[in-house]
Amino acid sequence: MLFAAVIICGLWLLQNVFIHGYYKNMKEASILEAAGQLSRSYMAYDIADEEGRKKLVSEITAIAEKYDLFVNIAQLDGKTLYTDEPYKRGYGDSLKDSLSMSVFGVDPSYLVAQRILQEPEGKMLQYFEDDNSRPMFLYGEVISHSKKKDPAVMIVSSTLQPLDETVQLLSQQLLIVSTAIFALAFVLSFAISKRISLPLMNITSNARKLSSGNYDMVFETGNYYEANQLAHALNYATDGLKQVDKLRAELIANVSHDLRTPLTMIKAYAEMLRDISGSNEEKRNIHLGVIIRESDRLTMLVQDLLDVSKMQAGVMKVEARNFSLPEKLRETSERFSAVCENGGYKIEIDCPQVEVYADPLKISQVLYNLVSNAINYAGEDKKIYLSAELFDNHVRVYVKDTGAGIAAEDLPLIWDRYYKVDKEHKRCVAGTGIGLSIVKSALELHGMEYGVESTLGEGSTFWFDLRRQA
Ligand code: ADP
Repeated sequence: MLFAAVIICGLWLLQNVFIHGYYKNMKEASILEAAGQLSRSYMAYDIADEEGRKKLVSEITAIAEKYDLFVNIAQLDGKTLYTDEPYKRGYGDSLKDSLSMSVFGVDPSYLVAQRILQEPEGKMLQYFEDDNSRPMFLYGEVISHSKKKDPAVMIVSSTLQPLDETVQLLSQQLLIVSTAIFALAFVLSFAISKRISLPLMNITSNARKLSSGNYDMVFETGNYYEANQLAHALNYATDGLKQVDKLRAELIANVSHDLRTPLTMIKAYAEMLRDISGSNEEKRNIHLGVIIRESDRLTMLVQDLLDVSKMQAGVMKVEARNFSLPEKLRETSERFSAVCENGGYKIEIDCPQVEVYADPLKISQVLYNLVSNAINYAGEDKKIYLSAELFDNHVRVYVKDTGAGIAAEDLPLIWDRYYKVDKEHKRCVAGTGIGLSIVKSALELHGMEYGVESTLGEGSTFWFDLRRQA
């Protein structure tokens, strides 16, 4: 509406305030144009010749008609070539009366001509009011300085049409137009604001609810494109928040559970040590062994949590060097020798002799986590396969088991911290629940590809790439 008001104000100013000046300028320009045409015509014809004279007169008449002018062209010797006004509106008489030039017996045009001749540039433009209060103008110029023709003085005069009536008419029209525009602007702005701001207001109020922890919010779509995009983006964000919230709750539950179990054990065995087994060396050693194992588990959990946080925060640096891949695989398998012996698991390694360029410690962690998962989820055959495939610039390492496998919908989620498909799964190797999260962070830190292929009931194959020797 403000925009409409500005435009209407502009129109009012143009039509009421500036129109006089504008009209005067326009009129002045048209007089000068007419004067130019007249002077060119005067130059074009030979007035000594009767024919030429006639043609000149008819041309001057045509110009005077076109511009509604009184025209007077007189030679300096006083001979008048032309003096007429086609519409007989008395412009010539006005000139005579108003300029007080009605010296008896003397042609007023002659007097004007005398004045023009005194002007330094040989021309003059003057506005005046005649006796009937008509606004008039007068333009005079000395024309033709050519040698073959005598110079003459040209005077043109006309009236500036009174604009008051026109302005009044326009004002009335403008009033109607303004009212219509304002009404239209009001209706339009109302409709547009309803269409544009209503969905946004809904979204804002839902977003407020979301920020206060209501993650069940659904942002409605079905409006215009941008609002839909925003609603989609917010729905997407809400899903993310929901997931994060769920994970956070699980994380707290898991961490507190995982921390509490070893702590309870440590406390219980320490009490037993104090009360019962303190003097019995054999029992004492067994109990101390449990305390040490549980403390190690705690340390491992805390260390894992620290590692994954550091890796995800980007604080940890990759300290890459060349090392032998098959050796690293053997080393990893040896770490599980006790578990394998006790549980009857078998780790088979099939790896060509190849050197890779990576951070050996982090790759150890990756392999440890993948193999411990494979053992935990191994199939009936209790076999875990470690293999590698050579490519031009990289090696792809596979850790395969023939166990339960992972459902397709869980595949993208298992890499999240504390995501567990089966929360009750019995494990042979203690897991901290963030194994794959460490794998993911470590490999992303290396900038290497990784992934998993899995079929329910048939087993899973986790793989990752390593750069070949630098
Ligand atoms: P954790 O094994 O301690 O629960 P991880 O981050 O290592 O935590 O694994 C996340 C989840 O991915 C596991 O809970 C399990 O459901 C699934 N998973 C990982 N490895 C395997 C595997 N080899 N076979 C089947 N499921 C697996």
